Amino acid sequence: LFITFEGGEGAGKTTVLHRVKEQLEQEGLSVIATREPGGSVIAEKVREIILDPAHTEMDIRTEALLYAAARRQHLIETVIPQLNQGGIVLCDRFIDSSLVYQGVARGIGVDEVLQLNLFATEGMMPSLTLYFDIAPEKGLSRIAEHKGREFNRLDQESLSFHHQVRKAYHDLQQKEPERIHTINASERLEQVIENTLQEIRVVMKK
Ligand code: C5P
Ligand code: MG
Repeated sequence: LFITFEGGEGAGKTTVLHRVKEQLEQEGLSVIATREPGGSVIAEKVREIILDPAHTEMDIRTEALLYAAARRQHLIETVIPQLNQGGIVLCDRFIDSSLVYQGVARGIGVDEVLQLNLFATEGMMPSLTLYFDIAPEKGLSRIAEHKGREFNRLDQESLSFHHQVRKAYHDLQQKEPERIHTINASERLEQVIENTLQEIRVVMKK
């Protein structure tokens, strides 16, 4: 079962993902928590290149290609082997992040970025995508309080960039309501975790 976590900055995806993993493991399930870009040795190296704050000259199509390359390597090395063993994969970001960030916010266009990514993934899609929705103002203020978080190139973006990201996620959700379910990420953490587990239990029964 392949489940992806999506959303803007400071929505709490990473925290919730790890808590949900712990819970499902306590119930005896085989679960891996992984992330994009990253989740394999090669893909983590690509992540460093993409997110290095010094790389201000990075071209947006180069960036899109690097995300797609990291995505493929992560699928091949990490995601697919776990799925083949019948386990659950919880992945922090996936193809929708590219559609939103590179396609819409960077302006390449959703269709072009989708085509590029379909090459990388050979059409593989998650069974469920949870979209953690939060007002950018609130997400960014959480990040400002979260001292241990790594700094990355996107931390320099404007508030309007983050509003565009949110709108793009809303549009994707409208297009694919079967796959993409919205979680209200502005609720308190324990409630968000509970709502997330509830969504996952529904697809596990299917
Ligand atoms: O999820 P996380 O915050 O670790 O992602 C790292 C950064 O990469 C974020 O700032 C995110 O917005 C950005 N990103 C992106 N395009 C993607 C995936 C992530 O711009 N396809
Ligand atoms: Mg995170």
